[in-house]
Amino acid sequence: MLVDSKQLWLWWSILLFVGVYSTPILNFEYHNYSALSQYLHNMATAYPNMTRLYSIGETLRKHKLWVLELSTAPKSSFGIPSVKLIANIHGNEAAGREILLHLIQFFVTNYTNDETVHWLLENTRIHVLPSLNPDGFEISVEGKCEIGPGRENARFVDLNRSFPDHFQSNTKPRQYETQAIEDWLSNNTFVLSASLHGGALVANYPYENVMENTWDAAYRLLNTSELSNKMSPWSHLPPDMREPYPPSISPDDDVFQHLAVVYASTHPTMHFGYPCNRMDREFQGGITNGAAWYPLTGGMQDYNYIYHGCMEITLEISCCKYPLTHDLPTLWDDNRDALLKYISQAHQGVRGVIRDNNTHQPVLTSGLKIEGRDSYFRTSSRGEFWRILLPGTYQLQVQATGYEPQTIKFTVPQKRLEKHLTPTWLDVNMPPVVRKATVVSDQVLLPTNPPDEASTVHYTATQKMVGLTNGHTLSPALFTEITLTSTDFVKLSNTPEADSHKPEKLLSVEDAGSDGIMWTSMKYMVILNMIFVFVLLFI
Ligand SMILES: [Zn+2]
Repeated sequence: MLVDSKQLWLWWSILLFVGVYSTPILNFEYHNYSALSQYLHNMATAYPNMTRLYSIGETLRKHKLWVLELSTAPKSSFGIPSVKLIANIHGNEAAGREILLHLIQFFVTNYTNDETVHWLLENTRIHVLPSLNPDGFEISVEGKCEIGPGRENARFVDLNRSFPDHFQSNTKPRQYETQAIEDWLSNNTFVLSASLHGGALVANYPYENVMENTWDAAYRLLNTSELSNKMSPWSHLPPDMREPYPPSISPDDDVFQHLAVVYASTHPTMHFGYPCNRMDREFQGGITNGAAWYPLTGGMQDYNYIYHGCMEITLEISCCKYPLTHDLPTLWDDNRDALLKYISQAHQGVRGVIRDNNTHQPVLTSGLKIEGRDSYFRTSSRGEFWRILLPGTYQLQVQATGYEPQTIKFTVPQKRLEKHLTPTWLDVNMPPVVRKATVVSDQVLLPTNPPDEASTVHYTATQKMVGLTNGHTLSPALFTEITLTSTDFVKLSNTPEADSHKPEKLLSVEDAGSDGIMWTSMKYMVILNMIFVFVLLFI
């Protein structure tokens, strides 16, 4: 059936009307837990091809920690980076919560008419957690710009002091909310993250803590004072204490500074670095190293980077922690472009896939690092990896159990003419470690450098098991793997192609080196000599 242009126009109008009509309405007002949950469910229903709603956990008050994932990239696409945005970890810092809801609205309603939004959704997975502390938000008070209820969770614990800490032991008990974040990070490979706060106007980057032996009395005062959680971090200190502390520099300091500058310089006022009140200080360019502002233990920012290789910065987006409703439109306008540009930074640097050189199957490892940068990152469950890097020449170092370590040189070029950032792609092929196993009598001897206890050495499986013969040297290809199950035993696993009736054998190992062979041979010689002497005596 032919459709003339009038009919076509009519159909498009109907579709457009239905689309607009079905888009959930989002006003500039604060949404309590049930309103926020309803909005996210409505969005997931209205845009099933662009969104995925899931919960990463539940609070003491049985509030779910909802995440809405935004992306139009097919699940099967390789190399799509995951970015996460979190707000409201401090329940009384409320502006970020509403800004992230408006970001969701902006993405889904501008997919077809905003080129940047379209490109980001096609090429990025954006996970949005509007409230990490819904229990705290429920008791916080609009208009309270500094001290106010709701900063902590329902157990009165500051969530941004409750994560495992690399620098200091953190004895605070794990909270439902922090455990949910830890699990979320363990089950996903996030490349980039931001946590939205209020009470200042600055982009704060790692590290936010320092090694214990560099702490002085002032650091301790700041972290142990009851006031530190309730007031501006400087307000209880004498004026000379408002000077910056020494920065705590991370191996990726250049990247973190870049990320902070991207946000602050795109924000219309953050880059001025003006203090929010006379007790605070200026931030040059609107950015600061976390520890240089004030060091803290158990923060989420350092935890992301050190424990999971995810680059997270902290965005203080409003001088007032809980601004009045009528300030929300301005706050959204101020942060919209900065958020879009920040998300796009996930496409700066290097990415690729790590595979087995022989089987071409993905290799999973947490042993990835850029040479000269003492910070590790890991692959996804499909062997993909990402790392944000500034233009330059680097070497990727890859270590994975059962494979020979690899070092690959690559270049991240200066921004090209294309509108969007384009990362350098690396395919990394890992050659499996090859070892020889020697069978002498009922013993298996690994000639050199046996793996540590319980570690695994993988072999290429190309031949079938031919049985164990005294003194016969077996090709590594006969086994899929050799696993040390204790210091005394080696477990041989047959290849998949091997005779399925042949049982696995547990064989003792006396020594892993040539000394073992020597010692075994000597034993037989001693026994033979004893028999020979006995026969001589007998005759
Ligand atoms: Zn905060």
